[in-house]
Amino acid sequence: MLKEPYALFDTRITARHFISPTLLRITLSGPDLALVGTTGLDQRIKLLFVRDDAHADAILARNAPWRELYSSLPEDEKPVARTYTFAELRPAQCEVDIDVVIHDGHAHGPGSAFALEAPYGSRVIMSGPRGDVPGHDKLGIAWYPDYDILQNVLLVGDETALPAIRGILKQLPEQVSGRAVIEVPYPEDIDEEMTAPDGVEVVWCVRDAGQTAFAQLPFPVTEEDKKAFYAGDEDEMLWQEEAEPGQWLGWVAGETQWVAKIRSAARRAGIAKRQASFMGYWRKGARHP
Ligand SMILES: Cc1cc2nc3c(=O)[nH]c(=O)nc-3n(C[C@H](O)[C@H](O)[C@H](O)COP(=O)(O)OP(=O)(O)OC[C@H]3O[C@@H](n4cnc5c(N)ncnc54)[C@H](O)[C@@H]3O)c2cc1C
Repeated sequence: MLKEPYALFDTRITARHFISPTLLRITLSGPDLALVGTTGLDQRIKLLFVRDDAHADAILARNAPWRELYSSLPEDEKPVARTYTFAELRPAQCEVDIDVVIHDGHAHGPGSAFALEAPYGSRVIMSGPRGDVPGHDKLGIAWYPDYDILQNVLLVGDETALPAIRGILKQLPEQVSGRAVIEVPYPEDIDEEMTAPDGVEVVWCVRDAGQTAFAQLPFPVTEEDKKAFYAGDEDEMLWQEEAEPGQWLGWVAGETQWVAKIRSAARRAGIAKRQASFMGYWRKGARHP
């Protein structure tokens, strides 16, 4: 197996169950996962959906990190790839769980189709952190504050960002206060078990009931912001940055236009660039690029 901070893991899907109407929890298993890094948080991973065993073997034989691998493969050998977040990590059992959004009960693309329909035992290659290689805990993470000085947070996400927000909340120091605003399709998608420090208010907005995260932010989202348009790859990620003392540190992820509107509102309200990261996790009406 590749000895890089991000390595390719040979895994198979071994279980699936809906934890809510929208989130399907899948389990990936395989001996390689004994080495998976356990940062959790919002650390991103890639799933590479291979055609068959021969395709999987050919990719693993290249023994290259994801980006190198992808740019070197001929077009017809490139596996479809999608980005996800860990929901649970169990290296001792050689397993990881991923919560995959299933929009209204149907697969909407190759990622959701694999989660919903792939027979148990189907192989999928995961590009993810390798816990025994230094630097694995610094890659693929946008939430990277200095916990010694962090006082206040604002976390905002839709259903695709729910696993990341759950991971971030779980690791927040107890003295931190603030707000997590999570917009989900249905009331049954609310995770009553989610843990957060006492001072962090978790606000759920149910889209089906006409609720929106826009109404729960510490700055107004106006009609002008609602026209904000995403242009190109504009993700803004924080790396080891910190808000000014007394200010909240923000993290926003979800559907790209939705995030663009929140970012526009934050800019209009004078929120400093370094105070929050904004990430488009998916695009309505467009396949993952
Ligand atoms: C850092 C990061 C972390 C992410 N973590 C997660 C995660 O933990 N769980 C998760 O489910 N997703 C997560 N996503 C989002 C996921 O990568 C996208 O939703 C991806 O497009 C799904 O691929 P697909 O093959 O199912 O659909 P695609 O082939 O990409 O898209 C096909 C169609 O489905 C629509 N579509 C795509 N996603 C959704 C959706 N969520 N709801 C409704 N319609 C959709 C598209 O607009 C398009 O019309 C993450 C993305 C990023 C960048």
